[in-house]
Amino acid sequence: METSQLYASDVQQAAQRIKHVAHRTPVLTSRTANQIAGAELFFKCENLQRIGAFKFRGAYNALSQFSEEQRRHGVLTYSSGNHAQAIALAASLLNIRAVIIMPEDAPELKIQATKGYGAEVLTYNRYTENREEIGRKLAQERNMTLIPPYDHPDVICGQGTAALELFEDVGELDVLLVCLGGGGLLAGSALAASGMSKNCQVIGVEPEAGNDGQQSFRKGEIVHIDVPDTIADGAKVTHIGNHNFDVIRRHVHDIVTVSDAQLIETMKFFAERMKIVVEPTGCLAAAAALQRVYPIAGKRVGIIVSGGNVDLQSFAKFIA
Ligand SMILES: *Cc1c(COP(=O)(O)O)cnc(C)c1O
Repeated sequence: METSQLYASDVQQAAQRIKHVAHRTPVLTSRTANQIAGAELFFKCENLQRIGAFKFRGAYNALSQFSEEQRRHGVLTYSSGNHAQAIALAASLLNIRAVIIMPEDAPELKIQATKGYGAEVLTYNRYTENREEIGRKLAQERNMTLIPPYDHPDVICGQGTAALELFEDVGELDVLLVCLGGGGLLAGSALAASGMSKNCQVIGVEPEAGNDGQQSFRKGEIVHIDVPDTIADGAKVTHIGNHNFDVIRRHVHDIVTVSDAQLIETMKFFAERMKIVVEPTGCLAAAAALQRVYPIAGKRVGIIVSGGNVDLQSFAKFIA
């Protein structure tokens, strides 16, 4: 697939578009965390973003650029998670009709939340049907614009605004650790760093069970894997996107992995010591610092805490 080159200035423009709509989330620090990591850590808390994750940024950046024609026909996407809610909320704020394709066995809570924002939810069988095919077909039939969860320039640039704000707030950093699923957040963050903190090493962190990003990075081409078995449900992707990979290979320094057990330790740390609820996927980047997966001793380190959407029952089970 052809990808057009993206720049730090594209993230700056996205920041202008979402400025008065997305929350400017806080940056937390913790002496205890610094002691454990032996570094100075800055946590950018996207668990406190609208819909509980950074995905609102990319969704709003994409939808706010729709033409009159596109707005009339509406937006369509497929997602079982935070991107569904992000598109649904952004669409409702911009008065655009939204259709979300979700697996029929998705948690009822998530389906209800998405419907609650006024989106139409269509379900499919994730074991026998292909959501990307359904999405493409439906988009064509209904003349709707498809905004996928990560493989899209406007989504990438929107996601990059979280890191941009972090650099604005704390200045240049030595290392930026970023949660990695399909690569929207990582690519956007790397673009932001390329403009704001040129010597910052940007590191992607993905679940050990689904290290397709690391494999792709090492191999120099996108590697496909089976759906990984991990508690990091927001990173259960089989391959990173084309646009994403294009940016990642140019601007990312390395990709490392953490185990589910390390994610649980990190969730506990956040709850006990920093008083915040972070979903398993949202713990990826912090786990790499607190569990000393990536060497950061003595450095100034940014950590994107990507989301906090975990139902209380699962949360209780994880931290028990
Ligand atoms: C989607 C998501 C990720 C992964 O983001 P990508 O852009 O797909 O890499 C990480 N954390 C949370 C909370 C998410 O919702």
